[in-house]
Amino acid sequence: DTLVSQIAAGEVVERPASVVKELLENALDAGASRIELRIEEGGMRRISVSDDGGGIPAGELALALTRHATSKIGSLEELERVGTLGFRGEALASIASVARVRITSRTADAPHASVRDSAASEAVPAAGTTGTTVEVFDLYSATPARRKFLKTPGTEAAHCIEALRRVALAHPGVAFSAWVDGRRVEDFGAGAWQERALGGLGEDYARAHRAIDTGPPTLGVSGLLGLPTVSRARADRQFFYVNGRFVRDRVLMHAVRQAYADVLHGDRHAAYVLFLRIDPALVDVNVHPAKIEVRFRDSQAVHRAVFHAVRDALRASAA
Ligand code: ADP
Ligand code: MG
Repeated sequence: DTLVSQIAAGEVVERPASVVKELLENALDAGASRIELRIEEGGMRRISVSDDGGGIPAGELALALTRHATSKIGSLEELERVGTLGFRGEALASIASVARVRITSRTADAPHASVRDSAASEAVPAAGTTGTTVEVFDLYSATPARRKFLKTPGTEAAHCIEALRRVALAHPGVAFSAWVDGRRVEDFGAGAWQERALGGLGEDYARAHRAIDTGPPTLGVSGLLGLPTVSRARADRQFFYVNGRFVRDRVLMHAVRQAYADVLHGDRHAAYVLFLRIDPALVDVNVHPAKIEVRFRDSQAVHRAVFHAVRDALRASAA
């Protein structure tokens, strides 16, 4: 079973940033209002995510590390209208098969927190307030072949922070902060989505952006567009969400690029944070753990909607 779970883990846990994504999504699913990420040595030594969410009952701590143990879904029908981010019940188990995992958690009605280490046989009492801290130690130390594929700590840390940004931009009501090797690198206070989106675009765009919000509830586009500034836009400032989920989709990216080129007559790169809302029946979100792809029923209609929304907004600000 070790081999099977390590292979499965490869799909979920490609690199430290994939661990970060899963842990952040769990914290959000738990209703957290404040989430803190700490990484050491690019996440290879330690990744820690703390939240002030509902916590895990002491008796369920061991279960949380077990494959297909999810508290989020009861039946196949439920799977089809799943509202939470995680629902496969395999992330923590997969991570625990390639790293040491320690969960410290406390529910609101518990007299104290409990800590469960994947290397220990049972949970023991601990100090802590309501919420959960999941720590992942020495990722891939037992699977050196996998570790070989990782880049430098600096690069892996950058991917981890990018994973945090992607999640944070879609959840402006939740406060997020991040530390890399003890140094605070990100601090998003809870607030309005425009503020959060601007935080994602970067300071360069403080006075050079435009908000859009158009279209019917079944196919609409909202977000912030960076306008050309002295500094060149960077590809890592392109965030696209479909119904709240971060995606990298060629149709969407092409529509935006074409709209920028159409209005600005150049090959200027675009910087943006855009949210597409679409009738869920018209889109197939690939729920493969590591993937961020979507398939649209009518991709031309989506392309048109995005192109026009972005082009009109850029034209209005150029006028
Ligand atoms: P999934 O998210 O798909 O259910 P995971 O393996 O990510 O599966 O998590 C397993 C279970 O552990 C979750 O269903 C949840 O009950 C519990 N859990 C994990 N992280 C947290 C957290 N931060 N707060 C509360 N419960 C959590
Ligand atoms: Mg999960």
